[in-house]
Amino acid sequence: MGGSESRPASAVWQGGWLQNVRHLASPNFGPRPDQACIDLAVIHSISLPPGEYGTGAVQQLFMNQLDWNAHPYYQGIRGLEVSAHFFITRAGEIWQFVDCDARAWHAGASAWRGRERCNDDSIGIELEGLEGLIFEPAQYASLAWLCQALALRYPIAHAAGHEHIAPGRKLDPGAGFDWPRLAGLLAQDQATAGWRLP
Ligand SMILES: [Zn+2]
Repeated sequence: MGGSESRPASAVWQGGWLQNVRHLASPNFGPRPDQACIDLAVIHSISLPPGEYGTGAVQQLFMNQLDWNAHPYYQGIRGLEVSAHFFITRAGEIWQFVDCDARAWHAGASAWRGRERCNDDSIGIELEGLEGLIFEPAQYASLAWLCQALALRYPIAHAAGHEHIAPGRKLDPGAGFDWPRLAGLLAQDQATAGWRLP
């Protein structure tokens, strides 16, 4: 399936769940603080095992269903309980794991636009990939579509990489992520044209 076919035509929300994308309800979430202003999209990269795509292991990780013995790399992350709101595959398919009104567990210790604990008031978006390497055109298209969908419901004004909000600790999405390309796509839509990028 190509990226354009995998990207739904119109964004429809049902509560904090985006309709017409793939859903798996992760147990790894909690409430946001009262009156959290959800104004940041955090962009990550992930693949499991690292550099292997389409294995289903990322979905299993976010669902606490990964077999830790299935690959040597998993020994180093055994027991990890994490999630993101969204995961975008290499083909541009969008998966949602956590209600966007809830707090997903993707950022860890972090700070951006003068506020700490970015999980409190951000949306976490994982791109299937390996930090430092490039991403697929279909992923940029789906990411831009997702950002525009988010802008319909949340007052998002910033996007940043995990590497920016947790410098020295995290490296994703890395040098292979094309921020000017994302900026160009966001500039094409009035709802996202004002977002501030790193
Ligand atoms: Zn990350």
